Amino acid sequence: MPNQLFPTTRLRRLRKSETLRQLVRETRVTLDDLIYPVFVEEEIDASVPIASMPGISRIPEKDLGKEIKAIQSEGIKSVVLFGVSHKKDSIGSDSLKADGLLSRMIKRAKDAAPELAIISDNCFCEYTDHGHCGVIDGNHVHNDMTLNNLAQQTVICARAGADIIAPSAMMDGQVAAIRQALDEADFIDTPIMSYSSKFASSFYGPFRAAAGCSLNGGDRKTYQMDPMNGREALRESLLDEAEGADILMVKPGIAYLDVLARLRERTLLPLAIYQVSGEYAMIKFAAASGAIDEKRIVRETLGSFKRAGADLIITYFARDIGKQGW
Ligand SMILES: [Zn+2]
Repeated sequence: MPNQLFPTTRLRRLRKSETLRQLVRETRVTLDDLIYPVFVEEEIDASVPIASMPGISRIPEKDLGKEIKAIQSEGIKSVVLFGVSHKKDSIGSDSLKADGLLSRMIKRAKDAAPELAIISDNCFCEYTDHGHCGVIDGNHVHNDMTLNNLAQQTVICARAGADIIAPSAMMDGQVAAIRQALDEADFIDTPIMSYSSKFASSFYGPFRAAAGCSLNGGDRKTYQMDPMNGREALRESLLDEAEGADILMVKPGIAYLDVLARLRERTLLPLAIYQVSGEYAMIKFAAASGAIDEKRIVRETLGSFKRAGADLIITYFARDIGKQGW
């Protein structure tokens, strides 16, 4: 079709003004899409800034209500809560108690802002003394024993008022086990957002400092995914869909857009992506050094997630955007 080609076709015509560019813009990110992670530490009196994540602090448990109200007032619609536990043991039993930190922080957040969507991160690494995501048996994490505990933990979270259950332990069969446990406990309407394609990534470094869940040895490569594998990542997510997940997730973000885009072609479920701590730190430190324009880079990275197929974005930049706009 020669008449489709230059000089007849000039793509610059629709880039002439900001108004025209806005009219044909394919992707938009709004605060409606964003989920803000919050770190909550028990038994502390004042916020503790996280050096590797400029602008992010561990919030004292007692201040969580106030903090949640502030977050809501900035236009954020959803948060995911991470506990910093002072009561760790070999199986993370504090997270299995109705009066444990995990349950308390969900209740406190829900009481403070009932309309905010409260997401519980369901795993054990924040509550185990060894830092692994489940029950240790010999020198590995025991899949099926961890499933039983995860099932218990999620029911406790649902009881505490969690709007969405988000299992992140990467145990095989975890979504099915959780769905069954929630249904048996009458939480048939509580959705599961699975950290379905979660990689054993070095981008998590600053988070480990933030949540105090560094490993006492070893790594998570037997349950989290090999960063080199794309097809397996699709299998992971599609299995979780078959097990009853309501939302799937790719984590981390920027280095895994291919996985997100391929997954978008294969499922009709909403997709989440997690722009993790290392991605946040890289942007913050590069901006602080004057190498990049922070706001523009944030807009561009979040835009890339939407363009690749994400519906929801978990990002530490959510509050900055809420306060300062784009
Ligand atoms: Zn974990």
